Amino acid sequence: MTFTTRFAPSPTGPLHLGHAYSALLAHKMARDAGGRFLLRIDDLDQSRARDYWEQQIYDDLTWLGIGWDGTVLRESDCLETYRKALIKMNNMGLTYACTCTRRDIAAAASAPQEGVPEFGPDGRIYPGTCRDKAHQTSEAAAIRLNIAYAAARALPAQFTETGSAYGGTHALRAEDLTDTIGDVVLARRDMAAAYHLAVVLDDAASGVTHVIRGEDLFDATRIHVLLQRLLDLPTPVYHHHALIRDDAGKRLAKRDDARAIAKYRSDGASPQDIRAMVGLASV
Ligand code: GLU
Repeated sequence: MTFTTRFAPSPTGPLHLGHAYSALLAHKMARDAGGRFLLRIDDLDQSRARDYWEQQIYDDLTWLGIGWDGTVLRESDCLETYRKALIKMNNMGLTYACTCTRRDIAAAASAPQEGVPEFGPDGRIYPGTCRDKAHQTSEAAAIRLNIAYAAARALPAQFTETGSAYGGTHALRAEDLTDTIGDVVLARRDMAAAYHLAVVLDDAASGVTHVIRGEDLFDATRIHVLLQRLLDLPTPVYHHHALIRDDAGKRLAKRDDARAIAKYRSDGASPQDIRAMVGLASV
């Protein structure tokens, strides 16, 4: 199978040095393997996605010397695929509608049990308020995955990680997932699919064999592998790389405009300067 990886930025702000590192590394790994490097625009959150930022992604990557293979995939064009997967999991009895607001969830979770974490890779662990409730279909609702049912059905499983911090084979057992992740959101009331669902469907549809991304997503990989098992999709090899941090050791955020590639560019930096800054000077 041809080594195939991708870079999947959201067009909700400028790409910064952390994105440059991720894209340069994935591009290099694809090139070294004689494989393919794809570009996907993660524009599911239409309230924040802007054409302007999308255009800047193309401009920044081109300026950095990163070309992509084939056509760009935009997640907003894949809604039908997400809908079908949600119906499939609903028919399997694995999902339920949830009308809780963030505030409801915080209030219900205000007395955490000892030894059980409050937050997981999908944010605050959902206390299960709506799990057994019947909702009117007209009510605006998010769709959640019943993680206990899903894990019992699809696990054990495993995945391979090649990044240096977590390299090796990782086993997923049902009992480890249920308490540390909670019932993940698969679709939000205002979004046809949440990130976790879209990412596994898109990677599979594009034939991605290697997912290369920041290590902040390592823990979420458990959700992705679980969804792949439920939906009969292949599990790629994962490679989570270290994050680029600012001088105070904090990871860079979208709003960290000071480290935007476009800013360095307009200040006169060269693509080679950016490569050197992220430690990929020889690429
Ligand atoms: N749009 C996601 C991000 O920028 C993509 C994550 C991924 O590569 O899976 O965080």
